[in-house]
Amino acid sequence: MHILVTNDDGVTAPGLLALAQEMRSLGKVTVFAPDKNWSASGHVKTMERPLRVKETILADGTPAFASDGAPSDCVALPLLGLIEEPIDLVVSGINPNANIGHDVTYSGTVTAAMEAVIAGVKGIAVSLDSPEGHRAPLDYSAAAVVAKRVAEKVIADGLPEGVVLNVNVPYLKESELKGYMITRQGLRVYRDALDVRMDPRGKPYYWIGGEAPTGVAENGTDFGALSQGYVSITPLQLDLTHRKAMDVLKEWNFR
Ligand code: MN
Repeated sequence: MHILVTNDDGVTAPGLLALAQEMRSLGKVTVFAPDKNWSASGHVKTMERPLRVKETILADGTPAFASDGAPSDCVALPLLGLIEEPIDLVVSGINPNANIGHDVTYSGTVTAAMEAVIAGVKGIAVSLDSPEGHRAPLDYSAAAVVAKRVAEKVIADGLPEGVVLNVNVPYLKESELKGYMITRQGLRVYRDALDVRMDPRGKPYYWIGGEAPTGVAENGTDFGALSQGYVSITPLQLDLTHRKAMDVLKEWNFR
């Protein structure tokens, strides 16, 4: 079993280290991650510039590859042959914030796992629903154990073709987790606001600011599960087609 571990927060992120350490109990681990934080970068394929790859080490001495590419590039490069030994599973994370509802298309964590699925390799994204405004170092230990348990299941039972697992873990001790829920995407409520500022030369610049997003805690959804203390496992598909809308659009009369 050869597991590729990546993330979107950069190769020095503590969540990546926690994930790599835990995955080691399941097989050989190769760490391949971006050299900087790409959070909320979405699904990227770098085509207009060269990509560089450096060998580095994680804080515990684990060898790792760091690339100046995006998270999905960090999956594409090894799967395209930069790493010779075939990869059986890609696990992305552990992201320090939840990736639920509409977040998944913004998420570098989730889209890195999607890149694996596009290449025909199983992909799992793992995110920790840490409390808003948490400043102290995060405890990734429960999420790491969850990642291992989910990966074990995927290794043993496989996944339907074209499916990527989006796993979100409440910020609780492992013993406090209520259990695991299979969920659908819920509704994120974004509270983005335009923040206009002035540079020292009197020209405006812009931040997409505002409050952190909330969500609708509907039963059966990712957000609902997290708000009740359950691990949320959402099987996502890369086929985004809205089937019902196809029937409606077929009634359109093009001439
Ligand atoms: Mn991130």
